Amino acid sequence: MEKEIPDKELTDASTFMGIDVGMNYLAVASTTDRKCSFFAGGEIKNLRNQHKSMRARLQSKGTSSAKRMLKHIAGKEKRLMRDVNHKISKEIVKFASERGVSVIGLEDLTGIRESTLSKVSKKKRHNHSSWAFRQLQTFIEYKAREAGIITHYVDPSYTSQTCIRCNHISKNNRNRLSFRCEKCGYENNADLIGAMNIEHKTRDYRYILESQGCLSATQTNA
Ligand SMILES: [Zn+2]
Repeated sequence: MEKEIPDKELTDASTFMGIDVGMNYLAVASTTDRKCSFFAGGEIKNLRNQHKSMRARLQSKGTSSAKRMLKHIAGKEKRLMRDVNHKISKEIVKFASERGVSVIGLEDLTGIRESTLSKVSKKKRHNHSSWAFRQLQTFIEYKAREAGIITHYVDPSYTSQTCIRCNHISKNNRNRLSFRCEKCGYENNADLIGAMNIEHKTRDYRYILESQGCLSATQTNA
């Protein structure tokens, strides 16, 4: 199963790509040369909303058949999400390959899980669906490896609040799905801003490798 595929060599001309995972679009990709792509989850969002109201009804019933039904829904949703994640990760890695991307940057969501998810209620935690995001990232990671592309996890702090034109950081820059810098007025889709900032942070990884004298690194998550 282990196939030795050499990683793409990192040079000054290397192309990097940032991936933002989220609720609106399942993923948004942005490359160093400003090519971007939005990956929607198709029917999954509607289905999850349908399930959400159904779950609420069944939970209030509390009968054994209601409990069975809840289990059935959960299993169905999990399988569907897995299929969607497989499909989208494949598309993302194809997009990266076609654009000669050497390193794909992903947000390190482990910190979010610890600090945010422990504070939110169980009900909210289901909506947050961090497992689905993590699964998508894992699928991207191994499909990228097969394509000889390195993946690297970056600190997700302020990636949705930092202006990519003037670097001004503020919560006020973001208003749900739209981004508007309160300082310079730069406007764009908020998820795309996230992907662009992740790409910036991923680019820094090249300098880390350079400083360690291992530009053709074989490790993925240092
Ligand atoms: Zn700005």
